[in-house]
Amino acid sequence: MADPQPVKISSLLSQLPSVDELLQTQIATNIIAHSGRRKAVMIARETCEILREEILRNTAANGRESLIGKAESMMKAAGVRERRIGVRRVINATGVFIHTNLGRAPLSDGAKRAIIDQASGYCTLEYNIETSRRGKRGVGAELLICEITGAENAVIVNNCAAAAFLILAVFAAGKEVVISRGELIEIGGDFRVPDVLAQSGAILKEVGTTNRTKLSDYEKAIGENTGMILRVHPSNYKIIGFTESPEPGELVELAHRNNLILYEDAGSGALVDLSEYGLSDEPVIGESIAAGVDIVSFSGDKLLGSAQSGIIVGRHDLIEKIRKHPLYRALRVDKLAYAALEATLGCFARETHFKEIPVLQMLSMTADEIAERTGKFAETLTARSNGSLRVETLVGASVVGGGSAPGVQPETCNLALTHSDMSVVELEKALRDSDPPVIARIMQDRVLIDLRTVSIIEERELLEILSRL
Ligand SMILES: *Cc1c(COP(=O)(O)O)cnc(C)c1O
Repeated sequence: MADPQPVKISSLLSQLPSVDELLQTQIATNIIAHSGRRKAVMIARETCEILREEILRNTAANGRESLIGKAESMMKAAGVRERRIGVRRVINATGVFIHTNLGRAPLSDGAKRAIIDQASGYCTLEYNIETSRRGKRGVGAELLICEITGAENAVIVNNCAAAAFLILAVFAAGKEVVISRGELIEIGGDFRVPDVLAQSGAILKEVGTTNRTKLSDYEKAIGENTGMILRVHPSNYKIIGFTESPEPGELVELAHRNNLILYEDAGSGALVDLSEYGLSDEPVIGESIAAGVDIVSFSGDKLLGSAQSGIIVGRHDLIEKIRKHPLYRALRVDKLAYAALEATLGCFARETHFKEIPVLQMLSMTADEIAERTGKFAETLTARSNGSLRVETLVGASVVGGGSAPGVQPETCNLALTHSDMSVVELEKALRDSDPPVIARIMQDRVLIDLRTVSIIEERELLEILSRL
């Protein structure tokens, strides 16, 4: 008996659209406009190949029209995937306000304007208008940092990891660095204190125990080859209960009595006291400087709320030594970061930081404010939507994130969504597929939207997106 399949397969194969035909479609034209001809050809080829295999496996659509239709929808999906690669704006509805995966700190309006208006073209990066000579790179941001923290001098590098590495390499290569066992931490993203020490050429000298380290433990460890005492703020975890560590002032006294540098990696970079908002464990940079710590480093894009950077402050001569080290050249920041930092630090200088800097706005938003905003939003959304979306409000907790303030979870009020035609997993995916993508959490069988991390301008977009679901 004759097998009809080979005939059917070869007739289907003959109906398969060619790469050239696919490149004539409107969808291909769109892909070419956005991603270039090479990418469009690649996508068309892959599409043909997949369809060919489906025909050979006998799972293909029937008929030329449906083959072309299938090819077009496959190419369209590939085009969408292509446009999502790289850095794209999203709406962060997770309630995690220093969200490392979503770009850490959102910039203030002033910082955005400074990047575009002051730094994106030619600018005074290393030029002094008064003298028409070469100017000092980073001087604006560094002066502001000194003014705000009371430090003698400052220098800015690519991030806090780079700052720690550079400081250790400059002052402790080949020497012992005394550090408490309770501070040998991992920040995430591969920043592990013992590894950074090893890479910089410093020798780890751990003292005390995980939960208790006394001043005498440090004292006993100091010897011939000691170069530095290091204190690291255990940013993303917390030891509670039977704990002990010396006060900064005691370590300062010990270090200076032994002619050693005391370096504090403060991590999150709180420039003002945030204990009112539950962040009483965050070291305030100015307080460390006032206590006499020689060098302090911290991130520019955590609680400071600016561009990615690592800020180093401290004693004048030590900072100049860092600036003159050949590694500084490899780790310094670009004009865009300086512009964002200057604008953000300006808010601290004018004491408008809680009004102007998004992470501090979010931190200082009260539970009542959030509840009121969310309640209004829920009402408007319910009135606008076609009835498929079920909208509730649910008390919950926002998260500081970014390796800062573990255990600090400001009370919030979430929108809690379910949909009559979609599971919560599908609903969450539909939000991610929207333009701009909305990143939300699933909890208690609902999709949760925390408006704490959504700006007022984004709120309008979010309303549009949600009322179309
Ligand atoms: C976050 C953090 C770092 C790393 O900072 P980056 O700016 O992400 O490089 C280093 N040390 C401490 C204590 C931190 O909290």
